[in-house]
Amino acid sequence: MACIFCEIIAKRRPARVFFEDDATIVFADINPKTPVHLLVCPKEHHERIYKIPENLMVRMLKTIGIIAEKLKLENNFRLQLNNGALAGQIVDHLHLHFLSRGTAENLVFEERK
Ligand code: AMP
Repeated sequence: MACIFCEIIAKRRPARVFFEDDATIVFADINPKTPVHLLVCPKEHHERIYKIPENLMVRMLKTIGIIAEKLKLENNFRLQLNNGALAGQIVDHLHLHFLSRGTAENLVFEERK
């Protein structure tokens, strides 16, 4: 079966996209746990954290800096990464959860159908 997140990246599935660059995409989690719950994904398909190229993790962290500033939540977020089914990973496309109980007023999405 096709990877759900690869399908979103390829614009074949709907998503609420907050940010995108050549290496990463950030979209809303469909089942948010906090007022701000975004998923930060590399565009390249990698299943697990320990298998990704070094520069890709740097790019993901750079994206986190960008979105934290856009949201004005630089001092109010946490990250979660579930690595492997036993640790709660459901979608086998590496992603970081960006979670904040702060304000969502700066969340403006591109709604992709
Ligand atoms: P994880 O348990 O770390 O693999 O988290 C996967 C996350 O992806 C969950 O929080 C789901 O709610 C979320 N999710 C699954 N499918 C979609 C989708 N099509 N669009 C947005 N988020 C999704």
